[in-house]
Amino acid sequence: MVISTFEQEVQELVRNQRAFFNSSATRPVEFRIQQLKKLKALLLEHEEEMHQAIFKDFGKSKFENQLTEFFPLIDEINIALKNLKTWVKHRRVSTNTINFPASSYLVPEPLGVTLVIGAWNFPYNLSLTPLIGSMAGGNTTILKPSELPAETSKIMARIINNNFDPNYIRVVEGAIPETTTLLAQRYDKIFFTGSPKVGKIVHKAAAEHLTNVTLELGGKNPAIFAKDCALKMSVKRMIWAKFVNSGQLCITTDYALVHQDIKDEFLKLAVEEIKKHHFSKEKANYVKIINNANLERLASLIDPEKVYYGGKVDRNMRVVYPTIMENVTLNDAVMQEEIFGPILPVITIETLDEAFEIVKSLEKPLAAYLFSDSTKIKDRFLREIPFGGGCINDCVMHNTNPNLPFGGVGQSGMGSYHGKASFECFSHFKSVLDKPTAIETNLKYYGYSESKMKVLKML
Ligand code: NAD
Repeated sequence: MVISTFEQEVQELVRNQRAFFNSSATRPVEFRIQQLKKLKALLLEHEEEMHQAIFKDFGKSKFENQLTEFFPLIDEINIALKNLKTWVKHRRVSTNTINFPASSYLVPEPLGVTLVIGAWNFPYNLSLTPLIGSMAGGNTTILKPSELPAETSKIMARIINNNFDPNYIRVVEGAIPETTTLLAQRYDKIFFTGSPKVGKIVHKAAAEHLTNVTLELGGKNPAIFAKDCALKMSVKRMIWAKFVNSGQLCITTDYALVHQDIKDEFLKLAVEEIKKHHFSKEKANYVKIINNANLERLASLIDPEKVYYGGKVDRNMRVVYPTIMENVTLNDAVMQEEIFGPILPVITIETLDEAFEIVKSLEKPLAAYLFSDSTKIKDRFLREIPFGGGCINDCVMHNTNPNLPFGGVGQSGMGSYHGKASFECFSHFKSVLDKPTAIETNLKYYGYSESKMKVLKML
């Protein structure tokens, strides 16, 4: 069997990272803090170049890049720096009577060599946020950013590879062949962000070595508009969240389920909101579609007969302008796959039962949104609809609260991260029963008797 140079390099990299991890160099909390501070300083030092790189890749403005990528990253590092000394402590739990006297606790420990694979739509955020979790957990990391935004992948590789020991953190750039080679190695953790289709490939590769995985995937996220909702505010919040990053956001509203009594007003307000934002390429406030393949995929989902607003595709600029489709049914092309772009299908519902049935007939979404002020409807939404995370009377913003672990369920993913959950995602918690040697009851020892059994039953 001929092994390529790249494969040899990857094998050596994993070997070296494992040796470095086994040296215990990454374990001390002081080391982790020092390295996180270094990462933060590097990000701040290269902020301007990072803005320029993402603008070259898909026209994302500095404001939007700061809002959706840069600030959350710095925030994530700050949270880890502030809390790491507490997170690494043993977590006490109560001890049951049969083990008395003893103490019981959980000991967080690093997992080892980790592989992080990022998606393209928030290329910095989706690569570096898991990296921060891995560093906080005390692991070594191989990071493979998405190859589609080539400039952002390049700059992350340059910043990290020029400044960190490769035995600790290394960015390996590449597309499918390189990722396939990376996935053939044995890791202690694989953290993947991307589509459910590739998630299955990653899960299979991880199964080969029984490697722990976190899969951050996607799906069709519903937004339900009950007839009692505060319509103007609800539409305003949903429209911003739908078209930010040109809808290339895993937790954006994929489709809206709108009660028939408010549908006309909903559509009118939605158009007003879109116009207010003045989305335009000229004003550099509207992000391009990542590549031509995705642009053509999106164009094919637009049924001109059902376009209520927009529908314009500019191939020269690689832009799909905000589009609303009405009278959509589950049979339409736009309802057959995750849209991941600036198209909003609106399905009119006669009753809430109908909305709930539609959502439950599809795979469990990464996010779900309800717009209503009724406690009864809110309770029902929380009780009946399975989803990774979501909001009531807002869209997307749950993602910005680091105290809410972020992740999917079923087809939309497994595991979660952000804030403390990131540390936990990249740690194992050893369960320990710690007994003093001075006292011992004789209950469990040979010499079984009825009287011992009576005491055991009582306990
Ligand atoms: P993708 O699955 O095509 O690619 C993700 C990563 O996998 C990339 O790094 C890519 O190089 C690699 N990859 C692609 N094909 C591969 C293959 N055959 N074998 C091995 N590796 C392969 O996803 P994408 O297009 O980058 O992102 C869009 C998808 O990601 C959407 O479904 C979206 O919902 C989801 N997403 C989820 C989250 C989340 O946090 N849950 C965030 C962003 C995007």
